[in-house]
Amino acid sequence: MTELAPNQAPGRSPVETEEAPLLEVVDLKKHFPLKKGLLSRVGRKVYAVDGVSFHIKQGETLGLVGESGCGKSTVGRTVLRLLDPTAGSIRLNGRDITGLSKTAMRPVRREMQIIFQDPYSSLNPRMSAGDIVEEMLRVHGIGTAAERRQRVAELFERVGLRKAQMNSFPHEFSGGQRQRIGIARALALNPKVIIGDEPVSALDVSIQAQVINLLMDLQAELNLSYLFIAHDLAVVEHISHRIAVMYLGKIVEYTDKKTLFTNPQHPYTEALLSAVPIPDPTIRRKKTILQGDVPSPIQPPSGCHFHTRCPYAEERCKVEVPALKTYAPGHVVSCHLR
Ligand code: SF4
Repeated sequence: MTELAPNQAPGRSPVETEEAPLLEVVDLKKHFPLKKGLLSRVGRKVYAVDGVSFHIKQGETLGLVGESGCGKSTVGRTVLRLLDPTAGSIRLNGRDITGLSKTAMRPVRREMQIIFQDPYSSLNPRMSAGDIVEEMLRVHGIGTAAERRQRVAELFERVGLRKAQMNSFPHEFSGGQRQRIGIARALALNPKVIIGDEPVSALDVSIQAQVINLLMDLQAELNLSYLFIAHDLAVVEHISHRIAVMYLGKIVEYTDKKTLFTNPQHPYTEALLSAVPIPDPTIRRKKTILQGDVPSPIQPPSGCHFHTRCPYAEERCKVEVPALKTYAPGHVVSCHLR
């Protein structure tokens, strides 16, 4: 097992074709200082994202998975530059966008969009569905009013809504339909990358499948790249090409979907997988029940952050931080036992 070379994005193996990634994130950190006391003295920090690297090629989906509080949504928001990174770099189409000002980010935002988790609260209840989608075009000064309406009508039909529903308000739609409005809004500016921040977690299982299938159809048609964030491996299984597993601000395992599901190497991935139902009753998977919640990112456990919950933890796990190493081509893991 070899340690990653500096700046080598994990998961990019030497045997992989050297197609330039559309989105490349290297050693991304986002720490939130905690203010305390009367004089607002800066005290401790929340280590929400603590050295995360990955890349996504055009037309590819990377699933980013971990329990609530592991920092995966912060990764999405920092990559979009809705939050300023503490350290690291974000490159879109070869261009470093890490330090761009708000004004310089404006045209870049057209290329990267987000679909939020909660379709109930992410849509303005006082605006019609058509206006919500059109607003994206208006804010970016695209087209005449008539051209924008035409584009919105096309988007509605593309995401499985009726043109007549453009005049309806968010409360008149079902949860799945509201998420379709969110998808139409994300598509309005013809982005290259879409970050889905738990985009189906608030939906019923049957509706989840419909929305995931819609996203996959759109990807095939428009060659979109997705960073698909979820807390559940079952949700990302269908849509992802590769999967990164996050625990307490760090990626602990990163590989292609098939390898992750058939040959997981990190005990945390093993535990997440044991909660995924297997359709074939003859196949048995080892059950690992995780005890307790994710520890606080304000004071993460020493050594391997996972040692407080890991069934295989050894003494050295409490003191030595495991490096993220290449376990096999295209497969990286951070565990002392691998
Ligand atoms: Fe478990 Fe130790 Fe591996 Fe961490 S390094 S995952 S505590 S065995």
